[in-house]
Formats: sequence, structure tokens, C-alpha cells
Amino acid sequence: MERIDLADITAVNERLGGWAAPGEDIRPIIIERLVIADDALDALADVVRRMAGGGRVLLVCDRTPMRRGSDDLKHLVVDRLARVVSLDVRRLPDGPGELHPSREAAQQLAAGLASYAVVVSVGSGSLTDVAKYARHLAIERNPAADVKFVCFPTAASVTAYTSALAVLTVSGVKRTLASRPPSAVVCDLRTLADAPPIMTQAGFGDVIARSVAYGDYYLANEIGMDDGFSTVPGRLLTWAEQDMIERAEDVAASRLPGVRSVAEAILLAGMAMSVVNQTAPISGWEHVMSHFLDMTAAFDAREQALHGGQVGAATLVSARGYERAWANLDLERLCSDTGGDNLDGERQRLESMFRRYDPSGAMTAEIWRDYERKLTRWARAADARRRFAAQKRAGEYEEFLGRNVRPSEAIATALARAGAPRRFRDLDRPIPAASAHAAVQFSHLIRARFTLGDLLDRSGWLNARAAESILAEA
Ligand SMILES: [Zn+2]
Repeated sequence: MERIDLADITAVNERLGGWAAPGEDIRPIIIERLVIADDALDALADVVRRMAGGGRVLLVCDRTPMRRGSDDLKHLVVDRLARVVSLDVRRLPDGPGELHPSREAAQQLAAGLASYAVVVSVGSGSLTDVAKYARHLAIERNPAADVKFVCFPTAASVTAYTSALAVLTVSGVKRTLASRPPSAVVCDLRTLADAPPIMTQAGFGDVIARSVAYGDYYLANEIGMDDGFSTVPGRLLTWAEQDMIERAEDVAASRLPGVRSVAEAILLAGMAMSVVNQTAPISGWEHVMSHFLDMTAAFDAREQALHGGQVGAATLVSARGYERAWANLDLERLCSDTGGDNLDGERQRLESMFRRYDPSGAMTAEIWRDYERKLTRWARAADARRRFAAQKRAGEYEEFLGRNVRPSEAIATALARAGAPRRFRDLDRPIPAASAHAAVQFSHLIRARFTLGDLLDRSGWLNARAAESILAEA
């Protein structure tokens, strides 16, 4: 296990180059500056001033009041930057209400960006993704525009900050869009420690997803349902993930060493996705369960729970799935499964499952587009499935899974020590039992990515009772 010094991007890139297998396409980190410090406000002013090079700077934030010690955080940051650069401030949304992280919001923001030298985002995941994608659009529309993007996170709540991807809703459906990583990320640990503790605990949950997602990522490739597996993202994150778990009590209490460990882990997790240009290494079945719960929130007339909190609880469910189902997987059935050959029957099955959530059928049609692709590929992957079954019988996957998938007991203990929820019903917005159950049994149907949920479903394991048993909400 190797400790990574995040501030030294050149050294990180050398490390990545050394880890890459011959011919493997590992993308370098193109973030220019990365600062993590107890007090990083001077560093922020310095980074922005240098990147602006005398040009104008736009600070983007939302309207939520935030504190840093006894100060109003946004006033503090605006005041500090206004002393060193020519600064405009844009608060989102333009109208009343909360900011919705949509592509439309990013398009609106992008319109005036090309005249700025630097855009600075001061906010958490949603605000950052809107600003990140807006800057990306501004450069796409005007390649001569050299707009830098400096990200100043206000909560260590998600893995999104350093990644080259932006998660935004497109016509109401959550989509991962290709974007550009920030030019610089400045983490002020005092700001992150003064965010509500539940935000840092959510970051903890979003990172611990790797404990199961890496197994999904590996198996999807082995079974012929993904186009490339790499050990590099895992190596990049291992040390920080372990350090974060060891400091879980400090995370629970929002003490600086705990907040720092979560901050380092979320920044590395974002990079781990960027180097392979996909989210799979830290986003498997547990993330699909979380997306399903977001999608069905309106049906339950509830607000969406914090992403990372939901993901942490779902990680535990997936880990139980590995423990209870993997050893006795029905390989005969997996090999002879003809699901992909019977698309009409599969579509009817999907429609009957989603009818209650989606009476109009519009969402189901969108879901089917992704699922149909997965099934078609499944039908084509029959040879790979037979190879997978033979290797599974020979015990060839045990070592990898033993090293890369954490036992549910260890995950439960880590979440408890960090003060993070272990059950969906204990989330900041509690999930009703029926929806939690549906997420376990059906969420793998909503996305094209192949995860453990698909493996358990296609091998006939994931029935209602099995879902109940790994949900273990009682
Ligand atoms: Zn996530």
C-alpha cells in the first residue's frame, strides 16, 4: 500500500505511469494545482490570482448560508478574492428555490463565461458539477477561450470534485456527462469541518463503495460485459481509503484529521475514475441502488437522501450479496440463460415491475433503452460466460475478491464508527421499506452497466426473499 501525496501531481502521474500495464490506456491527471490545508484561504487567493493573470474572475455559489468558525464563509471568500483580483459574484439559481443540478442550469451559466479568465466554484457536489460543466461548454463553444476552473469544496460529501465527469439531470433523468476536470482544487479543512457532520459521513460512504464496486468492475469484465479492467484506480485509492477507515471516529466527530482523510480519499476517488475515464471502479450495484432510490423519491413523496449516505448503506447490502450468493452461484443457469434472446418478454417483465412508479411509462421507456443494450450484449457474451463459469469452478476469482471486496462485517463496523447510516431507514430522509426492497431487487434493471445485481438476477438468485435477506433492515 502506497501513500499518495496529492499535492505533487507530477509524482502522482509518474506513479500512474509505473502502474500501467504495457499498452494500457491510463490517462494522466491534468489538474494543475491541488491544495489541502487546515487554513487554505491564502492559498486559494494565490492560486486564483496566478491563474487569472490580470483577467476577470467569476465566483459561483448557491444561496445556502454557510459558516466557517464565526464567519459567513461566502463573505469571507469573496472578501479575500476581491482584494487580489477583479471579481464578479453569481449566486445560483437566478430565481427563488434551490439549485437543481441540471444540464439546463449549466447551459445558462455557460453563456457568459468566455470573457472570464477564471471561474471559482464555492459549494458542494451539485454546484460544482454545474460550474464544471458550464466551463466545459464555454470552452467547447469557443476553443480560444482559456477559462480556468478553480474548485473550492464546501463539504467533503462526494467523490465528484476532481473527476472529468459531471453528473447532471437531462430532461429529469440523471446522466453522467463527459466534461473537464478542474484546473485547481483547494480544500480548506476548516470549511469542510464546519459543514454538517452528515456531509463528511456521506463522503465516507461514497468512498467505501469501492469495497464492493471494484469486485463488480472486475467481474463485469471477466464475464464479457465490460470493455476493460485496470488495477490502477484501486492502487491509487487503497491507502487513502484505509486511512479514512482507521480515522472513522475522527470522521464522526468532524475533527480535522478525520475530515482531512475523507477529503484526500474523495479527491483520489475522483481521480481514480478519471484515469480510466469511467466511474465503474467505485460505482457498482450499490450506486445503482442509490440512483433507483433517487428516481423513485417522487413516487414516495419524499426528498432525496444524501447521495453518499445512501451509497454507504447500499454498499453493505451488496457485500452481503457477495457473501451469501457468490459461493453457490448457479453456473449452469448463468451459462444457459437466454434472457437476451427474449427481448419482448424481458420488456414486459420490466414494465410490470416499474408500472407502479411510472404510470405514464415515460421513465420506463428511458430505462428500457439502457437495459436492452445490456441484454443484447448478454446474449452475445455466451462464450465469455462459459469461460467465466470454468474459471469460477477452478477458484480463479477467489484471490482477487478476497483482496478487493470487504466483508459486510468490516463495512458495517466502519460505517458505525464513522456515525454513518447502515440501513436505508436510518438515512437523513428515511426510505420506506417497500422502496428499499424494490431497490435491491430491481435497481440493476435501470442502467446499462453490469453489476453484481445482474449476476445474481441472471443466475436466478435474486428473488424477493433473497432481496429481503441481504437488505436486513430489521
Ligand atoms: Zn457516488
